[in-house]
Amino acid sequence: MNFPEDLDHLVRTDEPLAPLVWLGIGGPARFFAEPVDQQELAKIYQAATSAGLAIRILGGGSNVLVSEAGFDGLVISLAAAATSELSISENRLTAGAGAKLSHAVIKSVGAGLGGLEHLVGIPGTVGGAVCGNASNTGRDIGSVVESVKVIEGDGTTRTLTQQEAGFSHRKSSLVGVGVVEVTFLLEPRDVSALTKRMQKLWISRNSSRPTEQRRIAMPFVDPDGMPAKDLLHSCGLAGVREGDVSLDSAHPHYLIAHDGATSDQCLRLIQRVREQVLLQTGIDLQLNLQIW
Ligand SMILES: Cc1cc2nc3c(=O)[nH]c(=O)nc-3n(C[C@H](O)[C@H](O)[C@H](O)COP(=O)(O)OP(=O)(O)OC[C@H]3O[C@@H](n4cnc5c(N)ncnc54)[C@H](O)[C@@H]3O)c2cc1C
Repeated sequence: MNFPEDLDHLVRTDEPLAPLVWLGIGGPARFFAEPVDQQELAKIYQAATSAGLAIRILGGGSNVLVSEAGFDGLVISLAAAATSELSISENRLTAGAGAKLSHAVIKSVGAGLGGLEHLVGIPGTVGGAVCGNASNTGRDIGSVVESVKVIEGDGTTRTLTQQEAGFSHRKSSLVGVGVVEVTFLLEPRDVSALTKRMQKLWISRNSSRPTEQRRIAMPFVDPDGMPAKDLLHSCGLAGVREGDVSLDSAHPHYLIAHDGATSDQCLRLIQRVREQVLLQTGIDLQLNLQIW
């Protein structure tokens, strides 16, 4: 397909996705674009939609497993300055979807606004976190979302309320929709108390994660009543391996891609683990990782 001439400079073909995702594996995107602002985003959305191309937005790539074949469509990054801006007005933080979640957390804490500090240390972008309703210590990001601006296939935008965004346990109705901007309604709190809380959470997160491994993912949703980590330990699945992919032996809710790992090996390991857990406990472990 050919994009209109004025978009030509924006679109790259056969762009490798492996360097853009935490697992570091998978094939290329047929088309890839990083629009500089919402106007360019709208134009490219419109052109891709009218050509019938599938569109995905890539955030920080911490929750995506790209298949060996890659993605046969358009992948959009919102990492440009204008699509990742953060601003505060009274108790509200508005974030471009491409903003790093860590930046949003630090900015809100620094402004004495509570509600995002427990998300410290979760990798990725605000857009990715809102789509997957990221959570930590039992509190999810959706609980402090006031509204979400999304882009339609024709390039127009509309604003959804918290309720319309459909947040539930590690889920929202936003997957497959283009999130452009998110407004959080936060609570005024004491800056130094918030900062201390954030630092404490940061330390405890780092001690429960394989920090020496760089190519990792957190593939499963915690089932009701039990962290996935404990469930996997109790099923004897810590350290289980498939080719060059394994679950971490100390923190088995993390999947590790070692040198030589492939997407197929990841998928086979995930399948094996789900089957074992179902067989041993009757629990149908749900996948958090998005497969492209
Ligand atoms: C080390 C590690 C620790 C983690 N800890 C946690 C944790 O404590 N809690 C937790 O909930 N998760 C955790 N995760 C999972 C992951 O970091 C989160 O799900 C994160 O919010 C994903 O954000 P991202 O920007 O990287 O999304 P990506 O991986 O880039 O994308 C994930 C999905 O969201 C979609 N998406 C991203 N941005 C947009 C957008 N703007 N519009 C529409 N769709 C979009 C993508 O298309 C894709 O389907 C962890 C992952 C790792 C690797």
